[in-house]
Amino acid sequence: MSGQPIHIVGGGLAGCEAAWQAAESGASVVLHEMRPLVATAAHQTELLAELVCSNSFRADDWAHNAVGLLHEEMRRLGSLIMACADRAQTPAGGALAVDRDAFATAVTGAITNHPRITLAREEVAYPPADWANVIIATGPLTSPALAEAILARTGEDALAFFDAIAPIVNVDSIDMGVAWKQSRYDKAGPGGDGADYINCPLDRAGYDAFIDALLAGPKTEFKAWEEAPYFEACLPIEVMAERGRETPRHGPMKPVGLTNPHNPTVKPYAVVQLRQDNALGTLWNMVGFQTKLKHGAQTEIFRMIPGLEHAVFARLGGIHRNTFLNSPRLLDGALRLKIDPRLRFAGQVTGVEGYVESAAIGLLAGRMATAEAFGCPFTPPPFTTALGALLNHVTGGGLAGVGQSFQPMNINYGLLPPLEEPPSAGGAKRGGRGERGRMRKYALSLRALRDIDAWRGAEVLAA
Ligand SMILES: Cc1cc2nc3c(=O)[nH]c(=O)nc-3n(C[C@H](O)[C@H](O)[C@H](O)COP(=O)(O)OP(=O)(O)OC[C@H]3O[C@@H](n4cnc5c(N)ncnc54)[C@H](O)[C@@H]3O)c2cc1C
Repeated sequence: MSGQPIHIVGGGLAGCEAAWQAAESGASVVLHEMRPLVATAAHQTELLAELVCSNSFRADDWAHNAVGLLHEEMRRLGSLIMACADRAQTPAGGALAVDRDAFATAVTGAITNHPRITLAREEVAYPPADWANVIIATGPLTSPALAEAILARTGEDALAFFDAIAPIVNVDSIDMGVAWKQSRYDKAGPGGDGADYINCPLDRAGYDAFIDALLAGPKTEFKAWEEAPYFEACLPIEVMAERGRETPRHGPMKPVGLTNPHNPTVKPYAVVQLRQDNALGTLWNMVGFQTKLKHGAQTEIFRMIPGLEHAVFARLGGIHRNTFLNSPRLLDGALRLKIDPRLRFAGQVTGVEGYVESAAIGLLAGRMATAEAFGCPFTPPPFTTALGALLNHVTGGGLAGVGQSFQPMNINYGLLPPLEEPPSAGGAKRGGRGERGRMRKYALSLRALRDIDAWRGAEVLAA
């Protein structure tokens, strides 16, 4: 290995995973994190890997869900982020949700105690010329100084857009004489018991009045960014309502798979769900209720929801900026900046969406940087794996031509190449469309896990 450490800028989900992967492979790492010296618009602590909004890593079902598959691949590759998430798990039906403080504390402890990682609390305005092997993992809230420096060198326009945070409610203030606990379809999942969500029912008149209030409520406006697109996975609830009065009822407010025990013969017209946000179970977040409503209006409007009439909000919703690179144009297949290949990018700034996806790109970047430090070739995981498919999306393999517009994306089965053979014809014929879809996902997942195991094995042999 060259005498130089790998410098990683940004101690978020991606930077911590990259640091861990590199250090565990024998490389020396310096991790540079600017908090608490320089704040971001969303982080509230000085912990590494802080989750800025939802406490969910989404579905944990590797057999039928693409993000669950990504979880499993990462676990098999010794992911720090997944190990800490598993340890900090809170009940959430089929999802992997975590106690955010326990999770970030565990990651911070693992990083600071690692003998080959040095943590430097400082802002990096631009990596100095004598840093030969650098990973930039500064996330959607990259400090303005660094963002401007990158823009000045690339000449590319980075895209900025709104991103919204959902409110969190004190559980004691929820009226359980009106609300009830149940997971959709009573699904228990790996960490839950089938009753992991608090549900608040709305009838038709209540729903209509609520939508009217959402549409009329005063919003925070950012004139300079008005043309910017929203982060689709985190669309504000009032923006959903603007797209159509019934849209929230087909999204986060859908009433399916739930029976109100206070009124079992009447199906609610819509439902607001809250999910446990901390291990103590004292705080619950309003699922899918990211918002850019002004704070005063949020309190007034969300108290219209039956069961939340006296809600005490531990945190109200908010709105923030998100920045990402035009990666297919700027980065090579190993995530390096084409015009300055000593700089490699990782995490959400590369144009993936979400905690898990950001950590996944961190995992790959950490291994790539280590291979480079030891002068070894690096073969990326095949596109048939969730990790390989995500990398392919970021580095442009998924686009017909790099001239096309690049949009950030969550992992999904659509990014994986189709199966060589459709799943078992007999079973597919017997089942309906839904069943065939499940079988296809299962077959894609099995292929991915077979291929990630083979790739991992080859990596070990090459080392
Ligand atoms: C408001 C908001 C809400 C979101 N909600 C969700 C959600 O609900 N679910 C979800 O999956 N994803 C959500 N996201 C996306 C989420 O932020 C990312 O998925 C994830 O945190 C990205 O990981 P990362 O490591 O790339 O960046 P981050 O986790 O943001 O880490 C980047 C780190 O770099 C540091 N940094 C920045 N610039 C510098 C610099 N110049 N020098 C040194 N350090 C620097 C920052 O302080 C930060 O610690 C949200 C994002 C925002 C902004």
